[in-house]
Amino acid sequence: MMDSSIKKNQGRCPVIISLFSFADALLGETLAMDVRILAEEATVEDFLTALDQFAAAQLADCRGCDGCCHERAPLIAADIPRLAGLLAPSAAPAHMVCSNLALLTVNADGAADITMRRQADGACSSLQRTEKFCCIWQARPFVCRSHFCTPRSPRFSDLRESIVNRGENELTRLLLAEEAAGAAPLPEGALAARLNPADYAISPISGKLSYASLKIRDCVDDDLWQRLCAENDPCA
Ligand code: SF4
Ligand code: SF4
Repeated sequence: MMDSSIKKNQGRCPVIISLFSFADALLGETLAMDVRILAEEATVEDFLTALDQFAAAQLADCRGCDGCCHERAPLIAADIPRLAGLLAPSAAPAHMVCSNLALLTVNADGAADITMRRQADGACSSLQRTEKFCCIWQARPFVCRSHFCTPRSPRFSDLRESIVNRGENELTRLLLAEEAAGAAPLPEGALAARLNPADYAISPISGKLSYASLKIRDCVDDDLWQRLCAENDPCA
């Protein structure tokens, strides 16, 4: 059952990021990040804004560390406009971004995985190695903007994972649509021959190509939504 504060949230950020203390079996008493949603209209942009403000106030600066730039960095459809802004204008921006910055693989069960392209040792291709900074910082994808090497509550991790999974599927749908409209095939080859377009149907997030237009409610299932809205229950 949704609490009444969710409907009354007017004039303040509809996403709250906070720290809570929990007893970890290995580390003992530990602080972790939590997220709570206060309004139906909360967007991924609200989540990222709340995270930026929280990080500036509570977390150490990442400068000089490139730890998480050696991990898989999947892309979502809402990342495309900002990344496309780094490249030449194109009638098929998802193809333009994926051809220049990403790698598309198809796993054994036929699902597409679209990630930032990597260097030979696994580092992201947009990582400047000697100075250890991101060459596309202002346009870096959601998965990078929402990652901090701080323990997270289950609902925080589940929210991030759900946005990435649904957003990556929507990006695949977008690529298939661009291909059907005549875009030149990706370097990895034509997608329609490798994927089943029926697996990438229109969804509530289709066409939401900015973080501000992407509602969190449309990125999560009912169970996770209830957990995200629950008050004082970071371990939900
Ligand atoms: S989030 Fe942590 S691991 Fe990643 S770059 Fe920042 S300090 Fe390094
Ligand atoms: S896009 Fe930037 S922040 Fe993200 S993994 Fe690559 S170098 Fe790191």
